[in-house]
Amino acid sequence: MITKSPEEIEIMRRAAQLVTKTLNMVGKTIKPGMTTAELDQLVEQFILDHGAMPGFKGFHGYPASACISIDDEVVHGIPGDRVMREGQIVSVDVGTIIDGYYGDSARTFVLGEIPAELQRLLDTTQRALKAGIEQARPGNRVGHISHAVQQVAEKEGGFGVVRQLVGHGIGRSMHEEPQVPNFGSTNEGPKLRAGIVICIEPMVNMGTHQVKTLPDGWTVVTADGRPSAHFEHQVAITDDGPDVLSKL
Ligand code: MG
Ligand code: MG
Repeated sequence: MITKSPEEIEIMRRAAQLVTKTLNMVGKTIKPGMTTAELDQLVEQFILDHGAMPGFKGFHGYPASACISIDDEVVHGIPGDRVMREGQIVSVDVGTIIDGYYGDSARTFVLGEIPAELQRLLDTTQRALKAGIEQARPGNRVGHISHAVQQVAEKEGGFGVVRQLVGHGIGRSMHEEPQVPNFGSTNEGPKLRAGIVICIEPMVNMGTHQVKTLPDGWTVVTADGRPSAHFEHQVAITDDGPDVLSKL
């Protein structure tokens, strides 16, 4: 795990906050009838207009600036000609680079009216993220975060937390040690210390936690075709507790 200096953390705060501003822009702009490619274009332009670089474009060959994942798509949906429709949930994951440091955050948006149970999936995923963030403290293990997320999503919510994809450390690379799973027990994973920056990102499925990757090599979907939600924050561990860098 790479410890960051206070100066590095402030750069990452700018990168993470720009992601949040971008997601706020998405929230105001996204609407039925728009294609995912159109939304991706707006995301890219917004990031460039703010003097940053899109963090995802070209990452392991990824072709776009946002990951846009609809309904049963969990993460890594590639923007394209697909038209977004009323009643869908749309997860938008965005990365930025400022002065060599990454920002990374995600949110699931709602298009129009959705069933109460689907809204409960979104609310539960956000609560799971919050519970995980609360455990991001020096002396705790990564497993404290994992356990808290799983407790809210599975025990309280009755939903399935994805195992095959996890949160991560972040810095000059988008993905650093440690891995931050959304399931596990409090005696697992490395001990956290001040200066570690991580992304906590529960992916919570309405049904089974099992997922599969589509032939495009990127898009991850639920194995049972039921919907999935994704919320992500970038958090610095400090002696005073969690500092959510992606909060405005
Ligand atoms: Mg991430
Ligand atoms: Mg992300």
